[in-house]
Amino acid sequence: MSDSLNLIRLGPAADVALEKVKLRLSDNLPDLHVGVSQPLETPAMAFDSLRNQYHSTRILAILEQTTSFETGRVLGVASFDLFVPGMNYVFGEARCPGRVAVISTYRLRGRGSEARHLESRVVKEAVHETGHMLGLKHCLRPSCVMYFSERVEDTDRKLDNFCSECEGKIRLIEVEQIPG
Ligand code: ZN
Ligand code: ZN
Repeated sequence: MSDSLNLIRLGPAADVALEKVKLRLSDNLPDLHVGVSQPLETPAMAFDSLRNQYHSTRILAILEQTTSFETGRVLGVASFDLFVPGMNYVFGEARCPGRVAVISTYRLRGRGSEARHLESRVVKEAVHETGHMLGLKHCLRPSCVMYFSERVEDTDRKLDNFCSECEGKIRLIEVEQIPG
């Protein structure tokens, strides 16, 4: 049975073309059928007016409520700033393992000529959160896509795919999910 991953834009038009991200994710995640679904409106319930940011864990709950299991795994792509309590911001968050994740382009944009890196950064963070959905934890290798990015420089340093050890763990997780 093939697993699917659907990209869903949240709120205003993302500053990155989801169709392009989809094509690159299809290359990086060959075992997943990657698609783009209809956008959802800005998740107002997740807005924190004191911080002027969106609580990413609340967005995960909204994604679970508004999308069905038939949609497969869901990756929300937002252009507004995300946080979790205890951190100034996050690039994304995922249920681990689970069906939903969210990423934001807000902190990935950089300035001036750096803007051209946006698509690559989005792909890396999308693969990272998908890895969490598949059950992977953070990896200590700075070049592995599962390395935790605290700053955009961390994202630029890592590759857009799993190291061989993380790749091996995904295989094990998949085998465990086959019944019988
Ligand atoms: Zn992570
Ligand atoms: Zn790794």
